[in-house]
Amino acid sequence: DKHSEFVDLQGLNKPQYEAVTTTEGPVLVIAGAGSGKTRTLVYRVAHLVDKGVAPESILLLTFTRKASQEMLWRAGRLLNETCSRVVGGTFHGIANLLLRRYGSHLGFDSSFSIIDRADAEGIVNLLKSSLGLGKKEKRFPSKRVVVNMISGAVNKSMNLETLVQEQYGHLLDHLEDIEKLRRHYHDFKLDHGLMDYDDLLVNLRRLLEESPEVQQTIAGRFSYIMVDEYQDTNLIQADIVRLAANESKNVMVVGDDSQSIYSFRGADFYNIMRFPKDFGDTRVIKLEENYRSTQPILSLTNNIIENAAEKYTKTLFTSIEGDWLPKLFGGRDELEEASFIVQTIKKLIQQGVEPANIAVLFRSSFHSYKLEIELTADRIEYEKRGGLKLTESAHMKDMIAFFRVLTNPQDTLSWNRILLQLEKVGPATAQKISNTIAGADDVLYTLQNYRAKTTWKEAFDRLVLLYEKLLGAEQKPGMLFEIALHYYQPIFERLYSDDYPKRQKDLDQLKGIMEGYEELQSFIDDTALDPPEQVNAEESCMDRLVLSTIHSAKGLEFDAVFVMGLADGRFPHASASYGEQWEEERRLLYVAATRARKYLYLTYPRQLMTPDRQFRRTGMSPFLSEMSGGLFERINGTGAGGYGQREQISLEEALPVRKKKTKKLQMEDFSVGCKVRHPFFGTGTVKKTSKGRSLDIYFDRHGLKTLHLDYAKLTIL
Ligand code: ATP
Ligand code: MG
Repeated sequence: DKHSEFVDLQGLNKPQYEAVTTTEGPVLVIAGAGSGKTRTLVYRVAHLVDKGVAPESILLLTFTRKASQEMLWRAGRLLNETCSRVVGGTFHGIANLLLRRYGSHLGFDSSFSIIDRADAEGIVNLLKSSLGLGKKEKRFPSKRVVVNMISGAVNKSMNLETLVQEQYGHLLDHLEDIEKLRRHYHDFKLDHGLMDYDDLLVNLRRLLEESPEVQQTIAGRFSYIMVDEYQDTNLIQADIVRLAANESKNVMVVGDDSQSIYSFRGADFYNIMRFPKDFGDTRVIKLEENYRSTQPILSLTNNIIENAAEKYTKTLFTSIEGDWLPKLFGGRDELEEASFIVQTIKKLIQQGVEPANIAVLFRSSFHSYKLEIELTADRIEYEKRGGLKLTESAHMKDMIAFFRVLTNPQDTLSWNRILLQLEKVGPATAQKISNTIAGADDVLYTLQNYRAKTTWKEAFDRLVLLYEKLLGAEQKPGMLFEIALHYYQPIFERLYSDDYPKRQKDLDQLKGIMEGYEELQSFIDDTALDPPEQVNAEESCMDRLVLSTIHSAKGLEFDAVFVMGLADGRFPHASASYGEQWEEERRLLYVAATRARKYLYLTYPRQLMTPDRQFRRTGMSPFLSEMSGGLFERINGTGAGGYGQREQISLEEALPVRKKKTKKLQMEDFSVGCKVRHPFFGTGTVKKTSKGRSLDIYFDRHGLKTLHLDYAKLTIL
């Protein structure tokens, strides 16, 4: 307090100021999109440092690593000094740091490797065949489904049996084998020093719960904890926040329940509601002024969320006036939709909007393919986010494997990859060698003295030489890359002889990334936790149009936003029939539309290509047809290339063949004795309705089951 305060808090409104200056005790900020939640966090970090709080005792948890970097950069600018000592990152990133540091208390070696989805599926596949599962039964779940189940149970804090019953009823017969696979998968990871994303969270929570000593150290270290996008945390993450806080509970979380879009990964926006209960005596602050969007855009986005079944907690107003009404465009097909977007983007750029301030958003990455072709034809450069990750392709996994075994020699998964690159080495041999290596005290010695068969001895010797070089080199990642590439290049050209020139640019990109690191372990961790996106353009250029999945656009804002693919069956997705999934799709649209500052375009094709390459007519998304008239202006495609006709939309017009959607069922809708149908179990009779959202139902063919209303797709007969 002897500090002279530099940070000017003038740039905050009253409730924001309150949130920034209430530094002691639990604070919950619950507010709509664009109300300055993230900005408030930035000011709060700066204010704390300004007050003399040690930066390293501040923990800022965000949804992506990039978001925390940017927020700390902005806080640094307010302070006129850097905030680099503030600890910022994602839950997974922080868990990784803490587990490497303190994991030994649970028996973990600090050199564990982090595995991604593809690795996890690879292991499950390996175990599936070594356990002889799914050989005879054709309908055994695929590796992807098995990993989904295992991970789903962890993230939703459910037991596997309940999860399978409720979401994979048709696979119930395999439950025992799935349980077995899960046990073996668990042991495999322990034996090989591997952790998947879920393990990072689960193990950190365990560490905090089971080791009071570590818990005290960690809680003592972080005296101020802040979390952005709290609506997208799951129960494990909420537990971590609670356990990492010290007695003074200086924790501030900010979130928006109407922007929760990760429930498929176990996020639970009720965490927001639970926060005051968990922490006691919480200051709850609402922000109601939107500083992002013009009034017409805000009216439309408010309307999207007003139509939700779930009633969210806030209203928003803005003082940014404007008379530009959001536009709704229906094209004849995807091509016309794409060319409308391209032409409009060109006009916007002509009017002076910067390309980087224009974003086209879509539900799934593949929805933009047609558009990408059109953009390329028109020579408009773009940057695509939320698509393929750089490290997802085989050649990149090959390359990274060389470095992963350097940090964790027990990583047999990576050894296998490396050995399988050798000509004449088959899976059985690769497995045998990697097991020998993993069990060895001296890995290099073991390699050097391994008795290679004459058919592959020469190739193997080259590999040994590679490791002699890598281990002898200065450990700078850029240098290691050079050495590894020198070895890998001929292998690469042989393995991908058909298209290696195209793949080469990924290697170049990797080189650039690795050169940016001082330390190999941080490179390995960052690429595993937050893989970089594959860069599509030759040269990276700052001022480029943004194409992004909605999930990857969370928290961002642009002058002009296009939300495309708003066709019935595509958005909401055809599988989201009602209830929770339907509502989540609506929130997704809300997140998308609330990114816009000045211009918002909602577009859809009237015709879609089905997976079997048939054209199918479709209407606009029910989310659009249920919007109140007058909130947008409609532009119609002519089907002949021109789409200049403008007309004010009438309510009738906005409501074409509106599909009858099933209302979300409530507990009150069920009574004992009531007949129901379940898509997998068939017909049954309700036996018991409990206080929560669970029902006991006796199915004619399958007997008694307990089902959860939010997951089970029930119809009342
Ligand atoms: P989202 O829910 O989409 O993440 P948010 O609540 O985090 O939104 P911010 O991104 O922090 O909102 O703020 C939205 C925009 O409003 C930003 O450009 C921000 O700088 C601006 N803003 C917020 N508060 C103020 C204020 N008091 N004065 C001026 N501009 C503000
Ligand atoms: Mg934000």
